[in-house]
Amino acid sequence: MANVIILSCSASIYGLSRYAGAYRVATSLREAGYSVQVIDFFETWAIDNLIKALKRYVDKDTYWIGFSSTFFPNRTSYEYVKVDQRPYPQSMESMNRLFKEIKDINSNVKFVYGGAYSHHFRDLRNIDFYLIGYSDTLAVKLTEFIRGKVDKLPFDKVKDSHALSLDWKTIPNDNAHNLPIIWHKEDKIFRKEALPIEISRGCIFNCKFCAFMLKNKRKGDYVKNADLIRDEMIRNYETFGTTNYFFTDDTHNDDPEKLAYLFSVYETLPFKLNFSSYLRLDLLNAHRHTIDILHASGLIGPLFGLETLNHENGKLIGKGMHPQKAIDFLWHLKDRWKTSVNLHGCFILGLPHDTKEYLKYFEEWILSKDNPLDGFNVQPLRIRYDPANRYLSSSDFDIRPRDYGYTPLADGSWVNKHTSFQEVGEAVRRVKELSFSKGKTKITGFSTMSVYNIGVSKNDMLNFSELAILAMYDISNLRSRFVRAYQNAILNS
Ligand code: SF4
Repeated sequence: MANVIILSCSASIYGLSRYAGAYRVATSLREAGYSVQVIDFFETWAIDNLIKALKRYVDKDTYWIGFSSTFFPNRTSYEYVKVDQRPYPQSMESMNRLFKEIKDINSNVKFVYGGAYSHHFRDLRNIDFYLIGYSDTLAVKLTEFIRGKVDKLPFDKVKDSHALSLDWKTIPNDNAHNLPIIWHKEDKIFRKEALPIEISRGCIFNCKFCAFMLKNKRKGDYVKNADLIRDEMIRNYETFGTTNYFFTDDTHNDDPEKLAYLFSVYETLPFKLNFSSYLRLDLLNAHRHTIDILHASGLIGPLFGLETLNHENGKLIGKGMHPQKAIDFLWHLKDRWKTSVNLHGCFILGLPHDTKEYLKYFEEWILSKDNPLDGFNVQPLRIRYDPANRYLSSSDFDIRPRDYGYTPLADGSWVNKHTSFQEVGEAVRRVKELSFSKGKTKITGFSTMSVYNIGVSKNDMLNFSELAILAMYDISNLRSRFVRAYQNAILNS
């Protein structure tokens, strides 16, 4: 039985991996004395089994069931051509059954919706509370409120609903970056599983398209204490044999001194670390000594937010490194790191200066031999235009799309003078299909860790193409095996 149950989704499409948010909240609640059960991989459960699992943990002492929604919905690449606003990875029909069956056991159970985009879903019929933004502290306060231990919290009433929402900015916790994730035996962590870890929170930049919460921080702010990082890694190594990590930092290399200081911590570990993380290419170029520091630290899966090959856009959005300079530097990295690191680039199509000609040029370049990247992710620009929403964890494009030439449409898509959301969605779909069928890409970015979790060896993913890996490994079967083992552990605990 549990006081709080949190449903969370895998943070990856290829393999399987846990999302840090649910477990960070669970750690805070457990430290406050509450029992918490996370039920993960929400998207993989058959609804009957999920309800069965929930029933194992719901009783009269259950206060709330939460949805950690950052990675809902679990879109596939082919769905990018339409705007997808599903609030849950299961159908509404299944969810309505779930809500009803839980209420039949304990009619006082509250339903809580959190996650990075929860403020865009504040019209869900069965939800009682929304947690907006970082929820470490909010979840503990909310539990006290539900229990009647505190009378009042700075709630906001949700329009046309009985629900209340609670914004992290109203209950700040300036030390939240110094809180570890303490994995619990009930989390059913597998032996040697790659896990997420927070090294720091926030980002010193303020890119126009970026909706992350702690943008524009000062250099050095919100970096976790070295002893805490070391303790967390040693504990995970001793308990689960974990040596591989997803660093959840928004920009891991935002400070060269931080990287040197972290390397001195990693050198004291009793194992060789490997990790994947977001990096800024321009900073790596500006501080070239960090190329070796990151490599020696154990980097194997960097994700570079390159965003565009259109310099006008780059300057506009806050990624001003000239595209040719970026490409040349990526070739330099490829030469330095050879096959010990898989380079991954993230791109957005549909930025304000993206013409039809640019879309064509991009498609040709990304599939050409001039592209040094081992893998890439291309997304259509999303504009979450929501003028009634006062919450600020939105991008500049979300807040004032018309100033950038976009007309937001009622279905969540947009048009501008050059193109439309649908047109760039089609371009994205084409690029993904062609790059895959040409066998050009490798497994890169956070997928290096999530496919490791289902059994793909590091050596193979660094040396073989994605197509070769698919020929060597039965990925779908490996995923099913992982899911089955996890669900059985939850159902039989
Ligand atoms: S896009 Fe990356 S670099 Fe820019 S503000 Fe967001 S996290 Fe920072």
